[in-house]
Amino acid sequence: MPQSEPKPKPTTRIILAATAVAVLALGAFSLTQEQGDPSATEVWEPEPVMVIPGAAGGPPSDAVVLFDGADLSAWESRNGGGAAWVVDEDEGTLTVDPDAGDIVTKQGFGDVQLHVEWRTPSVVRGRSQDRGNSGVYLQSLYEVQVLDSYENPTYVNGQAGAIYKQHIPLVNASRPPGAWQIYDIIFMAPRFDADGSVEQPATMTVLHNGILIQNHAVLTGASANVGEARYEAHGPLPLLLQDHDHPVSYRNIWLREL
Ligand code: MG
Repeated sequence: MPQSEPKPKPTTRIILAATAVAVLALGAFSLTQEQGDPSATEVWEPEPVMVIPGAAGGPPSDAVVLFDGADLSAWESRNGGGAAWVVDEDEGTLTVDPDAGDIVTKQGFGDVQLHVEWRTPSVVRGRSQDRGNSGVYLQSLYEVQVLDSYENPTYVNGQAGAIYKQHIPLVNASRPPGAWQIYDIIFMAPRFDADGSVEQPATMTVLHNGILIQNHAVLTGASANVGEARYEAHGPLPLLLQDHDHPVSYRNIWLREL
């Protein structure tokens, strides 16, 4: 025998009626909204500054160009004197000279969007940290690791794209040794109170070859190889490229101050 629909109980009827009233009220409210003035929520000024994008990873119109393939005048040696890495103007590259030490920009920076292209040697030598090691240090203190991490196991908080010993990259976006790779980094510098305590830690977002590998990572201090990272109060500081005794190359380095 087919079962007949049970009659709704009185409480169910009340709920149904209340729901109908609510739906009607909501409809009337939306109608009022639609009849309002859309321009009331439009913002027209101040207009964002017009920036002309660069072609294929090239610097946009408001960038500070740090290396354009020939000119090393924005840099100096960390140990004093001129930057003595090897410039190949035909290739447009800058290569670590293992005898020359780290290089730093003459100018100091705070919050930046940084674009840097790098290449580890095509001739593979060594393993783990001893293969194509260099580093991009924001404010000379906070390292995004540069390493040949293509089929080269190492501790994962020290592989390419790691914020050294603090944040493991979300994925390994490495290209093979000898191929050019790209970092696009959004760095927000730490803020310090007048007494030197941390008001706001540094953060970094990093794209490696266009792939997100650090998503607004919060830094616990300056990169340290031994022990815990710690902050010491500072203002704007130079960008640093690391000499780790390997002939890693760079090209097309620019940043935008934020
Ligand atoms: Mg390094």
